Amino acid sequence: MTTSIDRTPPAVTLRIGGEKLTSGSGGTHGHVNPATGQVDADIPLAGASEVDQAVQTAHAAFDGWRKTPPAERRRLLMRLADLLDENAAEFARRGTLDNGTPISVSGGFVPLSAEWTRYYAGWADKTSGDLTASFGNGGELGYTLPQPYGVIGIIITWNGPLISLAMKVPAALAAGNTVVVKPSELTPFSGELFADLVEQAGFPAGVVNLLPGAPEAGAALVEHPLVQKVTFTGGPATARKILHACAEQMKPVVLELGGKSANLVFEDADLTAACQHATFMSLGTLSGQGCALPTRMLVARAVYDQVVATVAEVAKNIPIGDPFDPTIISGPVVNEAALERILGMIERAKLDGARLVTGGARLEGPLADGYYLEPTVFADVDPQSELAQTEVFGPVLAITPFDTEEEAVAIANATPYGLSAYVQTNDLKRAHRLAEELEAGEVLVNGAANLAVHRPFGGVGISGVGKEGGRAGIEEFLRTKAVGIA
Ligand code: NAD
Repeated sequence: MTTSIDRTPPAVTLRIGGEKLTSGSGGTHGHVNPATGQVDADIPLAGASEVDQAVQTAHAAFDGWRKTPPAERRRLLMRLADLLDENAAEFARRGTLDNGTPISVSGGFVPLSAEWTRYYAGWADKTSGDLTASFGNGGELGYTLPQPYGVIGIIITWNGPLISLAMKVPAALAAGNTVVVKPSELTPFSGELFADLVEQAGFPAGVVNLLPGAPEAGAALVEHPLVQKVTFTGGPATARKILHACAEQMKPVVLELGGKSANLVFEDADLTAACQHATFMSLGTLSGQGCALPTRMLVARAVYDQVVATVAEVAKNIPIGDPFDPTIISGPVVNEAALERILGMIERAKLDGARLVTGGARLEGPLADGYYLEPTVFADVDPQSELAQTEVFGPVLAITPFDTEEEAVAIANATPYGLSAYVQTNDLKRAHRLAEELEAGEVLVNGAANLAVHRPFGGVGISGVGKEGGRAGIEEFLRTKAVGIA
């Protein structure tokens, strides 16, 4: 199907204090369209000097912003949320240009991002401290002041360029911080429009600065002494480098990293719904490129063969193709390196004895130039094998049988990750029991949606530290000062 959507990438700039720079000292990045394998834009990249300029600018803007009445911060964020909604079609287009996410999916991230923005707008004038008082001899009045940190360094990855901004920037601003944001160089287009709308909403210049940049720019941001806290979304290898860099200055961090989330399917579940959910989530909508996806399906032996067969059938019928086609559910993976990495994991899974049920190859024919992979399902996956232990970040689902609930929990908890866990059951007691026992930052039962803003999201183990969402999400951007008055 052909569509009339314009596929021309927009120009990208560096945003410092309301100024737009068309080039940076970090050189340029040739943006590759993953649907065609062709370079479609040259992206200017910030280097250390622009990072320094942006941080100095955010630092200078901090005093005014922290003293801006909270209700005014709320009003500006509400205006930004409305602008996100008003620009939904363009954000969907840019999301698809950024990384090949199908337009039906990138479009869905826009209202979600507006909701994250509105939710934290609502917190801007609702943070409060505690009061303790004891009177009489030696008494004192004590209270706490929740205060913003100052400049927050925000580093995000490429798989959800708009929602990642919305999960970090509004909460940081609502709390009274200013920000310097470094989106992934792979996905610069959504951030450009976000910066335009921040300006249009009327935020004071310097409160939000946004710099497309390579890893070197991220490192410069982390190391900058005026950056008071870093919040990062990406992979564990980068997170370790960031932690090392932050150790020197004792700088606090939030790390939102990867996962290998278990999805426990019991015989009493609605199996049709469970198979649809598992397959579309892990293989379909983001081609497996999501941190919290249920990529490890653990299935009760009694329904194992039935579930494997149903999942394979659903997987074979996922519409894959041109991400600008609104009927498409699954697009390419982000780049050639990702494609090669995923194919390597597929080959090693076979050598490890997993049973390939469907998929396993790059797509040929009219899609051969893009980075398309067949939705791939492995059954009988050894819980200790690479496929069960390591995030693929591609459309590969691992299925393993279990005999008892205890065994299922033991397998689920036996990876170094702990981002999300999923349970499919109609036994209420079991659901609550497993919510307690599963080692993960969240447990989602019977298809509860990911990324609900009122719920704190964030992992344990090598899935990270810190939360986004809920009250915990704004508290990450406030530090507590205690006051005592004799
Ligand atoms: P990555 O870690 O390679 O890069 C992420 C960002 O870090 C990019 O902007 C990059 O330029 C920057 N960067 C790289 N090196 C840096 C350094 N030394 N200092 C500072 N910044 C640096 O990301 P990736 O591995 O391609 O991203 C995919 C990962 O992100 C997956 O593991 C996925 O699970 C995870 N992820 C997590 C969440 C979450 O909320 N938990 C959401 C989306 C993706």
